[in-house]
Amino acid sequence: MLSTMQDGQLSLGNLLRHGTTVHAGSEVLTWTGTESRRENYGELGAHAARLANALRGLGVTGDQRVGTFMWNNAEHLAAYLAVPAMGAVLHTLNIRLFPEQLVFVANHAEDHVVIVDGTLVPLFAKQLPQMTTVRHVIVANGDASTLEAPDGVQVHSYRELLAGQPSEFDWPEVDERSAAAMCYTSGTTGDPKGVVYSHRSIWLHSMQVCMSDSMRLAQSDSALAIVPMFHAMSWGLPYAALMVGATLVMPDRFLQPEPIAQLLATEKPTFAAAVPTIWQGLLQYLDTKPQDISHLREVVVGGSAAPPSLMHAFEERYGVPILHAWGMTETSPLGSVARPPESATGDERWRYRYTQGRFPASVRARLIGDNGEVLPWDDKSVGELEVAGPWIAASYHGGAEVDPEKFHDGWLRTGDVGRITPDGFLTLTDRAKDVIKSGGEWISSVDLENAVMSHPAVAEAAVIGVPDEKWDERPLVAVVLREGQQATAEELREFLADKVAKWQLPENWTFIEEVPKTSVGKFDKKRLRAFHSEGKLD
Ligand code: ADP
Repeated sequence: MLSTMQDGQLSLGNLLRHGTTVHAGSEVLTWTGTESRRENYGELGAHAARLANALRGLGVTGDQRVGTFMWNNAEHLAAYLAVPAMGAVLHTLNIRLFPEQLVFVANHAEDHVVIVDGTLVPLFAKQLPQMTTVRHVIVANGDASTLEAPDGVQVHSYRELLAGQPSEFDWPEVDERSAAAMCYTSGTTGDPKGVVYSHRSIWLHSMQVCMSDSMRLAQSDSALAIVPMFHAMSWGLPYAALMVGATLVMPDRFLQPEPIAQLLATEKPTFAAAVPTIWQGLLQYLDTKPQDISHLREVVVGGSAAPPSLMHAFEERYGVPILHAWGMTETSPLGSVARPPESATGDERWRYRYTQGRFPASVRARLIGDNGEVLPWDDKSVGELEVAGPWIAASYHGGAEVDPEKFHDGWLRTGDVGRITPDGFLTLTDRAKDVIKSGGEWISSVDLENAVMSHPAVAEAAVIGVPDEKWDERPLVAVVLREGQQATAEELREFLADKVAKWQLPENWTFIEEVPKTSVGKFDKKRLRAFHSEGKLD
């Protein structure tokens, strides 16, 4: 029997219409280093319409790709709305990709137009000649004349191109299952892979971001989106904010601890999201220059494991709870969020909060053992996590066939290894490729890192497996000490003695200035491993 219900499209055109009218008074703030530029969502609607008209004028039709090479700011947000709502596909280019990867993704996605931030022109210009499908470059927030156009490419000033365009656009009805936006994984192994989100997947995911046991984003929030708009769509914050009318605070290019602290003091957001390294940096800064940040009702930390020491420091020293979440580019990215059950109290509450979180109704999960068997959710059995659901990728863009390494039976193979409690809380012990295999047993690099980072003299610690004649592999701990602090390998080993099993105690330690980071700010263990094999870590 068919239902008697209507079939309203879950499209970003409908989201744009809603957010820019019902929430016309809510605002997007873009930090300039000293103050914020402000644009309310009503004005943003007109801005998006002018951009869509300009893009049509450049010949953007159908599902052509419009790339962005931008910081988090109002112009980027206008592209987030205009491009999918006009039926084209937004491709957020990661500004920190290696040059050859940047060229690869622009060509692979077949970007026709790229909107580039003025401050990023020198970076972009070097790769533009190799981008074979790009016909137009639009320079926003800067001087277009500094960009020399290769043959066949036209360069435009964003401001001039949009000036005089109508502030209304006849947004088409777009099928909710068609492509809205695409994002490439940062490619820690092999070429980057393109994940193509649909209007429907983004809409459903945005609703999840706002759910009360999830990130709880609401109209009353002012959300600081530090996580870049090219990193898994800024974890869904921009669209979710338009859905509920939350204020968006955009840091633009000011991502160092000092300007972030200044932005916090000025705009007093209630909510923020970023990878752990950003919060580690801010914590170190605040510890030397304390300031009240209790206006933050909560901050979301994900992208890599949130160290318990970081969670305690923010809560106990600054009154700000950290909400730990897990996800991937392939999962839109919200996969699980660590809000403990109401019944949990005291330490039990903390134990739930350290986990990667609980799966929502729309994300199905299973653990797969070494022999392909499905493992129980008993918080003991450890296997590879697989997930499925309406905002989880089923394949990569342009793959001739579905990659069996990443997908099978309709499930996404995450490459993450962990266990799940009977009530659906995930604990990740590692990425499959980071697990350390010592004498036939597994050592979790994440557990060791968390333990070392709980030492007061340690700012950061990354653990990799290094070859060992007797045990195959042993952990090597790369430690960054806090400024002005001292600790020896022997002291740190001693400190770990009651925190990890004796056979796991690392004998290999190295002290470094900084842990290398990936393009989205995670510990880059691939580079650490390379440094080690080149003899640079001794
Ligand atoms: P990349 O794979 O290039 O790092 P993603 O941002 O898509 O790009 O990374 C997803 C991966 O990040 C996950 O598969 C997982 O390994 C890791 N990750 C994300 N959130 C967490 C978390 N809360 N704890 C541990 N690992 C996490």
